[in-house]
Amino acid sequence: MLGSTERVWGRLFETQGATYRPTTLVFYSGGTQAGCGFASASAGPFYCPADSRIYLDTAFFDELANRFGAPGDFAQAYVIAHEVGHHIQALEGTLGQVQRAQRQLSEREANALQVKVELQADCYAGVWAAQDRNLLEPGDAEAGLRAAAAVGDDTLQKASQGEVVPEAFTHGSAAERQAWLKRGLASGDPAQCDTIGGALR
Ligand SMILES: [Zn+2]
Repeated sequence: MLGSTERVWGRLFETQGATYRPTTLVFYSGGTQAGCGFASASAGPFYCPADSRIYLDTAFFDELANRFGAPGDFAQAYVIAHEVGHHIQALEGTLGQVQRAQRQLSEREANALQVKVELQADCYAGVWAAQDRNLLEPGDAEAGLRAAAAVGDDTLQKASQGEVVPEAFTHGSAAERQAWLKRGLASGDPAQCDTIGGALR
């Protein structure tokens, strides 16, 4: 699956006259030392810009299937493709710009900007899937959309604290996450994933 993201993003970068540098996927169990500090299973999957690697706890896919009700290969692929989306953002320079901007913002504004970053990564995940259609089986897109809804901030907040606090969203609501994944899936075009727009200018 990671090989497929390399082919797709390699091609897309090439059409822009750029060269894609692949990311590395690090599977770990319990905890591991990452370039961004210690990674523990409770952190969930994440991308570390400092070492350009994706960290994924092996237990997360079980959690995705059982606790979040999103089983299946494509739900897992969506999670990885989302993290690859962050890698694309790092290569594009967006992640660095966002981090610099967030230092000047209030917590609420910084969270709102973070949501835009996450939604773009969801859209990029859709772009990858759209560009490698022969990897998709019937029902896969729906499974991915279910996973996107399951990891929406409102869904997670409701499950953990019984209420929804939109100001504390850092990934976007279930509806937003589904909408941006769909947009990527429908277009296969990274240019359609500009969630950030003027927010950095
Ligand atoms: Zn993310």
